[in-house]
Amino acid sequence: MNQITSIFSATRRTAPAKEAVRAGVGAALDIDLDAIVANRRLLIARAGGVDSAAVVKADAYGLGAQAVAAALSADGCRNFFVAHIEEGVALRAAVPTASIFVLHGVAPGAEGAMCAYGLIPVISTLAQISLWRERAARRGKALPAALHVDTGMARLGLSEVEVDALAADPSLLAGLDLRLVISHLAAAEEKDNPSNEAQRERFEILRKRLPAAPASLANSSGVFLGAGYHFDLLRPGAALYGIAPRVGEPNPLAPVVKLSARVLRVDTLPAHTAVGYNGRHVTTAPSRIATLSLGYADGFFRALGNARANAGFAGQKLPIVGNVSMDMITADATALPEGRLREGDFVDVIGGDADGVDALARAAGTIGYEILTALGARLQRRHFSSNEGRLA
Ligand SMILES: *Cc1c(COP(=O)(O)O)cnc(C)c1O
Repeated sequence: MNQITSIFSATRRTAPAKEAVRAGVGAALDIDLDAIVANRRLLIARAGGVDSAAVVKADAYGLGAQAVAAALSADGCRNFFVAHIEEGVALRAAVPTASIFVLHGVAPGAEGAMCAYGLIPVISTLAQISLWRERAARRGKALPAALHVDTGMARLGLSEVEVDALAADPSLLAGLDLRLVISHLAAAEEKDNPSNEAQRERFEILRKRLPAAPASLANSSGVFLGAGYHFDLLRPGAALYGIAPRVGEPNPLAPVVKLSARVLRVDTLPAHTAVGYNGRHVTTAPSRIATLSLGYADGFFRALGNARANAGFAGQKLPIVGNVSMDMITADATALPEGRLREGDFVDVIGGDADGVDALARAAGTIGYEILTALGARLQRRHFSSNEGRLA
């Protein structure tokens, strides 16, 4: 052991309890697992009972894949999708018997790890098919696989020519236990975009050229396009986490996240005071300004400063004024009675009394997906069950 690690462990032995450090937490992300479970149930109901997987890539869109998957698994979810093999490996302990599909497929050299953790590659190239076929031959038993066919997004998926090559020579798929055929919609949140129907028709055609297997097309927004899009398995991510399936329309899903940040200081400032970097906010009247422990390093975009978004406290919206700093933002709390907001209080910054994920996305010129997945590692993630025992 070198000197630095020995000093570190010596310090650790006398370190204060985790709770004491947590008491000083700067910002907390509360994640309602029951709302996620309820959202999956709502999607299944909208699809007339078709089963739903859960897409938990990117740490369940930043909300904690293991806790999210465990909660969904307890409610009967049997199929999970991740993007990377490492995500699948990390998820395995949380859902020991579920199917875990790896959207980015299998890379040369990773076949053994895929098998060891029981991960199912979602294969989208002929090279990966031969890799998996050879591994199956070496093991002397069929290996589970899903196939991704491209129906018009031109991102991942076997082309029509490649699907035809597989149809012409069934031995190419020898040793593959085909569990699922999928494709992905490029514009499902635009309900009138003709690409949706074109992709659906193409999917019907291509899947029939492959060996019979359950099919999956609909992401979150795809669920709302109608029965023709549901096939055998829904594949939502965003909607589980409360993101609206259609921009600008009422959101039928339950809100899932609330981000709140500690008040570091409350100041009453005279008129004509410049606040924060570059003095981008100047008070026009005496103002109460609260400095909050959250910044762009936590994924709160700099584009949301200067009165484009609202924090919230005690039912009152508090405009976020001035530039967003790396570790802090400033909110105008003048609307609250004097003394109501104090150092150490937690002010909502996303959800709760603040603007929600979709409103913030609009204000920042992005989509709710990016708001959630940007939320940083420094936030304290707290999973809870709003509805414990009552979801039945
Ligand atoms: C991310 C992803 C999904 C989930 O999409 P949402 O829009 O979040 O529901 C489904 N399928 C594939 C292939 C994906 O990459």
